[in-house]
Amino acid sequence: MSQHLAIINVGSMLSGSLDAPRIDADTIVATDGVISAIGTAKDVAVPDDALVIDAAGATVVPGLRDNHVHPVFGDFTPRQSTLGWIESCLHGGVTAMYSAGEAHLPGRPSDPDGMVALATLAHKSYAKVRPAGVKLEAGAVLLEPGLTEEHFDAMARAGCRLVGEIGISGMTDPLKAAEMAGWAQARGMKVMVHTGGASIPGSSVIGADFVVAVQPDVAGHVNGGPTSLPLRDVQRILEETNARIELVHNGNITTLGAIVRLAAERGELSRVVIGTDAPAGSGAQPLGVLRVMASAASLGGVDGATALAFATGNTARLHDEDGTLSVGQAADLVVVDAPLGSQAADAMGALEIGDTLAVAFVVIDGRVVVSKSRNTPPPVRGVHQVGAAPSSGAH
Ligand SMILES: [Zn+2]
Repeated sequence: MSQHLAIINVGSMLSGSLDAPRIDADTIVATDGVISAIGTAKDVAVPDDALVIDAAGATVVPGLRDNHVHPVFGDFTPRQSTLGWIESCLHGGVTAMYSAGEAHLPGRPSDPDGMVALATLAHKSYAKVRPAGVKLEAGAVLLEPGLTEEHFDAMARAGCRLVGEIGISGMTDPLKAAEMAGWAQARGMKVMVHTGGASIPGSSVIGADFVVAVQPDVAGHVNGGPTSLPLRDVQRILEETNARIELVHNGNITTLGAIVRLAAERGELSRVVIGTDAPAGSGAQPLGVLRVMASAASLGGVDGATALAFATGNTARLHDEDGTLSVGQAADLVVVDAPLGSQAADAMGALEIGDTLAVAFVVIDGRVVVSKSRNTPPPVRGVHQVGAAPSSGAH
């Protein structure tokens, strides 16, 4: 028997795509984990056996994607000696994460065979375990001298799709890094370069010259990890590579705004993606993606729907996924609203004035995984499961 979920009385529905950000609909239905209908109440039939969420005029968006995390195994990070950091991010609306390298493994190997083994194991482990339901793409190899093309064959065979931040491990020669990046990209893997100041002991200062030499898929945390690149270097990356530019929570908020404005002026907002860079020295950041979205909109001068696309459709497309609200996609959905006390009228308005959104419900593969965020403020509107008392809010 099919399993159904419906969200009704949606005030605003955002697609997560820059091309057509707003969907003219108030009802969304998921069947067996996949979005099966989007439309207005008069056109869309809600199945009798559906679990129904009444959005009470709140906003529905695609699950948020954190393009920059440093997982190890399961829901544990030795960097902060913290359990449950991924589950905590779920309460900030994040349903998918991408590893930028399993750098924090105690005793991380630095020989080529050891790095291939770690990437393979991390990929296969997270393919089987989803902490709190969050989909985590791990197995992001950190480059070390001595890796060969055969090593990349082995990782591609194992399903590894990522090269972690180049610059935080032993590979510091841009020409050699470029050769390895080419081997990875020829096998469909996405390559990230660390940019800016040194992040942890052992990492180095990397500017536009290095990024241009490597031609990665992502220039990681161009607003700093934690020390920002100069704006002229970001401009060179936009001009001389095809890389996405990534904004992270664990960076410089002032340059974040300037970088969004630069990308907007150049008509290249489709190249902006969002991550946290957590867990890091600055902590595990459960609301990091929401806060970067708010900073991008309020300081970068773009509308809320654009900031949302940075963390949904843009990031998904980088990884050859879809990530937008559309029929046939996985039903990874978040009901968000202006937080209680906000001066804004709705969720996107809240982002535009720099407020952190309220997360009311999170759905992964058509199943409710959060029915009241323990990390965000409550929503203004009384979003609730039909048949259950309103979970929170002002009414
Ligand atoms: Zn970094």
